[in-house]
Amino acid sequence: MPHSEAMTPEQVLDYPFPNPPAGGSVLEVAPGVNWVRMPLPFALNHINLWVLDDGDAAVIVDSGLGTIQTRELWEQVFADELKGRAANRVIATHCHPDHAGLAGWLTRKFNAPLLMSQADYLTAHAWRDEAAGYTNDNLVAFLRENGLDEARLQGFRERGNHYRRVVPDFPSRYHRIRDGDEIGIGANRWRVIMGYGHAPEHAALYSESLGVLISGDMVLPKISTNVAVTSVDPDANPLGLFLDSIVNYARLPADTLVLPSHGLPFRGLRERVEQLVEHHRLRLAELEEACVEPKAAADVIGTLFRRELDTHQTFFAMGETLAHLNYLVRNGTLARRRDADGVVRHART
Ligand SMILES: [Zn+2]
Repeated sequence: MPHSEAMTPEQVLDYPFPNPPAGGSVLEVAPGVNWVRMPLPFALNHINLWVLDDGDAAVIVDSGLGTIQTRELWEQVFADELKGRAANRVIATHCHPDHAGLAGWLTRKFNAPLLMSQADYLTAHAWRDEAAGYTNDNLVAFLRENGLDEARLQGFRERGNHYRRVVPDFPSRYHRIRDGDEIGIGANRWRVIMGYGHAPEHAALYSESLGVLISGDMVLPKISTNVAVTSVDPDANPLGLFLDSIVNYARLPADTLVLPSHGLPFRGLRERVEQLVEHHRLRLAELEEACVEPKAAADVIGTLFRRELDTHQTFFAMGETLAHLNYLVRNGTLARRRDADGVVRHART
């Protein structure tokens, strides 16, 4: 799923594969680990997916957005690159549409199980069915109480259920994976490392024997992972969860090859985690400064995002701004109150 502001990392990361595979083809980045890139119709214009060799079959990690274009590119991969091999498992790192959009199609096509965390499996269904509070009305009310103006709220009313459009169907059975589970694929074992703050329960996969981490959206080389407060859990502290989670990746060997969902494969995991921690520390300081006078999230969105935002980007930007505000409320730097106009504002204590 799209992410927040672009960062300009210092040149401390090493990119051993600077040229992504063309659409419909694969590039092997470690023994039996194949990189597939699919287009996205957003400012963030691509997602990386992975096909892992498993004897005479394959395991697919993430599926791409549920569009005809992505399906056609997958068919090309199956015909040209897999040469008739079937997928025996489909793993979804998390429920966001660019990762889970074709999970239904792929699992049906190969009669293969879907492996996923419980929280993200249930959230995918809730989003599609507008259950458990995942309604557009709840979202619009949440954005209104956080200060978004009528003109921009109208954009959200018209947008409707975006998730269902790009996740056209979703399996009604799955195989639950949990933190620490080991998944055997080919000659290698992949350990599930759950992360929080970006999705409800995001599964990254680490193979010690290969020295490879499929980081999903939890660690990205160029942009910072979107951490967002949602309308169903408005008091959450996703930034705190995210910062606690990425510490786990920094403990992996320094020369780990990181396979992110967006951008290029890289080495320099520890340096990247340090950059992300520093990035958020600076953003928190800026927001604290901006809240000398009481401010709603929509008032300070420009502090973190210094550019024009469309409806799609505003969704992530509001969530991300609130993630930083809630973090500062949790640590006592800001106090939150609901004013007579129904708008929630934050001010320095
Ligand atoms: Zn995501």
